[in-house]
Amino acid sequence: MKQRNVVFCLFLIFFINVLSAQKSVLKRPNIIVFLVDDMGWQDCAVPFWVKKTSQNNRFHTPAMEQLAADGMKFTNAYANPVCTPSRVSMLTGVSAAVHHVVNWTSPFKNNNTDNLDDQMVSANWNMNGLSNVPNIPFTYQATTFPSILKAAGYFTVHVGKAHWGSSGTPGSNPYNLGFVVNISGQAAGHPQSYLGEENYGNIPMKPTIQAVTDLQEYYGSTTFLTDALTKEALKSLDAPIEQGQPFFLHLSHYAVHTPIQADIRFRNRYLDMGLDTIEANYASLIEGMDKSLGDVMHYLKKKQVDENTIIIFLSDNGGLSLGGKGARGNNSHVQNLPLKAGKGSVYEGGIRIPFIVKWPGVCKKASATDAPIIVDDLFPTILAMAGIKKYSTLQTLNGKNIIPLIQQPSIFKERTLIWHYPIKWIDKDGPGINFHSAIRKGDWKMVYNMRNGKTALYHLKEDIGELNDLSAGYPQRLKELKTSMSDSLRKWKSPMPVFKATNKLVPMPDEL
Ligand code: CA
Repeated sequence: MKQRNVVFCLFLIFFINVLSAQKSVLKRPNIIVFLVDDMGWQDCAVPFWVKKTSQNNRFHTPAMEQLAADGMKFTNAYANPVCTPSRVSMLTGVSAAVHHVVNWTSPFKNNNTDNLDDQMVSANWNMNGLSNVPNIPFTYQATTFPSILKAAGYFTVHVGKAHWGSSGTPGSNPYNLGFVVNISGQAAGHPQSYLGEENYGNIPMKPTIQAVTDLQEYYGSTTFLTDALTKEALKSLDAPIEQGQPFFLHLSHYAVHTPIQADIRFRNRYLDMGLDTIEANYASLIEGMDKSLGDVMHYLKKKQVDENTIIIFLSDNGGLSLGGKGARGNNSHVQNLPLKAGKGSVYEGGIRIPFIVKWPGVCKKASATDAPIIVDDLFPTILAMAGIKKYSTLQTLNGKNIIPLIQQPSIFKERTLIWHYPIKWIDKDGPGINFHSAIRKGDWKMVYNMRNGKTALYHLKEDIGELNDLSAGYPQRLKELKTSMSDSLRKWKSPMPVFKATNKLVPMPDEL
C-alpha cells in the first residue's frame, strides 16, 4: 500500500512537471523583426527627437504611430552606415569592427565593392560576408540567433532582402543561417524592380542577379513588391499559428532602397503636397512599408496572437542623402535634418535609425528611452525574449540584452559604441563618408577622419547635428575617446586602410 502511494506521488510530480513545462512552452512569444532598408530617422510621422520636424509632417505612417502608441520608442538607436555590416551585426550580435564585414557585399563572390581612391588603399575586409561554416575565404564565421531559435523549436521565417553574403558562398542563402522558410532572400542588395508589371525584374532574355526571386504568382499583376512580400510572409505564418508553434519572422523589406519607384497606391498624396517626383516616389515607398506593418498587425489580431507577439521595428542604416542618377537627394544633405549627412556616413544621419518595440504586457504603452542601443543588441535580446537562457556561440557578443531597459526606461547605462568604415563607399567624399570611424560614450562622440588624420568631438545631447567641435575645450575627454577607440580597434584587429604614398597603415587615433 505504502509503495503504491509513493509511486502515485512520483507520477503526480512527473505529471505536474510535464504540465508546467508545456505551459512555459506555450507561453513562448512569437517575435517579428520588421526591418526597413535605408529608411532615415526622420522618414515617418513618429518623431524620434524632442519635437516633430517638417520631415515628420511630410510622411503618412499611421501603423508606425500605432506601434509607437502600443510600445516603446528608442530615440538613440543605431545601425552601421550601410546594409551588410548592419545585417551581419544583427544576426551575430557582433560589432562591424569585430566581424570585419565593413562594407556592403557584392552579389558576386570575391568581388570587392570598394571604390578606388588616389591616396588610399581600402582596408582588407571580409568582402564575401557572413558564413555558418569554416574555411570560406573572406567571410566571418559565426553562430546566428535564428539557428538557435530554430534549435529551440521556433518556426523561423525570412522574407525579403537578405544581403548577408555573396552568391556562391553559404551566407548568401538564408536556409544556411537558421531559417526554415526563405522567400525572396538572396545575395542581392536591392530589387531590380518593385513592380509586378515588370515581374520584379525577371525579364525573359535579360537575366540579372537583382531580379527578385520566388514571387511568380504575382508576375504581370499590379501588386507592388512590398505588398507581395507582406502577403507571402503572412501566408507562411498560418501553419505555425495553427499548430501552436512559436514563430520568428524576419520581414526584411527591399523598400525603401533604390530604385526609388512609385508605390502608386500612395503617390498622389505627396504630389498633391507639392513634392517633386523623386521625393513623392520615396514617400510612397515609405507609406507602402507602413501599410505592410499595418497589415501584419491586423493579421496578428485576426489570428488572436497579437497579445503574444513581439514586434521590433528598425531600419538598417540612415536615410540616403547622396545619390547618383535616379536616387534621392541630388547631392543635397537636407533629408535627415537635424542630423548631419546620411547613408554611408558615421555622422548621426548615416547611423541613427528609427527603432520601436511592441511587447504586450512588458513594454509600457507610448513609452520612450534615450539609452543608446545598436543592432548588435538584437541577438541577445531576442534570445532572452524567447526565454532561451543557455546557448553557445562561436563568437563573443558585443550586443547587450535591452530587456532591462524595456522594463525600466529610466536606467541609463554609459556604454561605448564604435563605428568603423575604413573603406571608400562612393567616388566623392561627403561629410563622414569614406575612411571614417566614430565612437560614442554617454553623450560624447568623436569622429575620426582617416584621410586627413583629424578628429572632432561633439556633445550629442546639446548638438545633435554635430556642428560644434568641442575638442579645444575638452582635451581630456578627447584623449579618453582616442584611447578607447584605438584600444578597441587594436584588440579586434579591425582592418585599416593604407596610404599609397608611404605604403603605411593609417595610424590609430592615439598615434596622431
Ligand atoms: Ca540599407
